[in-house]
Amino acid sequence: MNIPVLEDLGDLKNKNVLVRSDLNVPLRYDEHGNVTIADDFRIRASLPTVEWLLEQGAKVTLCSHIGRPKGKAQAKYSMAPVRQYIQAKYPSVSVMENLRFNPGEEGNDPGFVQELIAGQDAYVDDAFGASHRAHASIVGPPRFLPSAAGRLLAREFEVLAGLLEDPKRPFVAIIGGAKVSDKLALLEAMVSKVDKLLIGGAMAYTFMAAQGHRVGDSLFEPDRIESCRRILDSGASVLVPVDSKILASSERFGRGVIGAEALVQGGDVPDGYRGLDIGPETIALFQGAIAGAKTILWNGPMGVFEDQRFSEGTFSIARAVADSDAFSVVGGGDSAAAIDEAGLSSEISHLSTGGGASLELLEKGDLPGLAALRDAPRVK
Ligand code: AMP
Repeated sequence: MNIPVLEDLGDLKNKNVLVRSDLNVPLRYDEHGNVTIADDFRIRASLPTVEWLLEQGAKVTLCSHIGRPKGKAQAKYSMAPVRQYIQAKYPSVSVMENLRFNPGEEGNDPGFVQELIAGQDAYVDDAFGASHRAHASIVGPPRFLPSAAGRLLAREFEVLAGLLEDPKRPFVAIIGGAKVSDKLALLEAMVSKVDKLLIGGAMAYTFMAAQGHRVGDSLFEPDRIESCRRILDSGASVLVPVDSKILASSERFGRGVIGAEALVQGGDVPDGYRGLDIGPETIALFQGAIAGAKTILWNGPMGVFEDQRFSEGTFSIARAVADSDAFSVVGGGDSAAAIDEAGLSSEISHLSTGGGASLELLEKGDLPGLAALRDAPRVK
């Protein structure tokens, strides 16, 4: 896969290894200021690399960011809870303070890179979720140190790049979410690679507008209608919703909102209404496509799934993906959250740990962090 992996680092006994992980976990503070890690998924996902390095006799220093402290030290973004968690398991591992306390991290400052690599013999990037950023800790150390992808990064790359190269067919991509402008590059990259493209979420309404449908007050982006039309006319098999769950524009919706019943409507959304989920016919149409797939990529919810009245589309698709025998890949963010909420995580072949990074890897086939590893000095 043409990026160096851990085994390429040679003998690591007593070597100092700097590991950039994605330990950006949600922290929860109670009224007494006590902190807990609300979800340790990202830490657990980072441990195989740490354990392997320790087994080789390496001295490991971990670094990561948490949140967006914007270049200033702030107690609520301290790595201390993560350090405690890690050192309870591996007392010898050092955990640096939040990289983004230093403006040099996001600014990719050469002086900060030198601080990071001081005393280190090798570098490992295991931070898939940050590898689409040309930040100091991602692209800096590989300019100076023998470097490798950790287990997590290597697996993400293998799976996601594999989708682009040699997927088992039929390959079905399900793309949803709020803004078509955020996903256009992905849609354009995937349309020639997949056998079927299924489109849901608010972004479907720009496609429906391109088909000549009325979209009422649904979220849609008039300046993207042309791009959607090009995708629809590309000759690929693109499935767009044929019905919607709708709500009067005067009604509120969102997490925890209780209110008017959703109505089902065919291809057109009437004036004074918003389309907020795919309808039952669309669910059946999408389920049929998913059932026949050998490879599935899913990114983005089918509707406002935070609101129970508009969650059926997303959860039905989650179940269909989980039930399928296909190799299934779910991109980070909301779709991964929906899979988790439905208790279906173990039914998915690969749940990506990075939202933005997985989108960019699928769009471009590469990431700044991966390119940096490829160009790093090799162990003689
Ligand atoms: P994204 O971050 O682009 O994946 O979008 C996720 C968000 O899109 C979620 O918060 C959903 O509530 C929202 N969303 C999905 N479908 C719709 C819709 N039809 N109208 C408004 N928002 C939607």
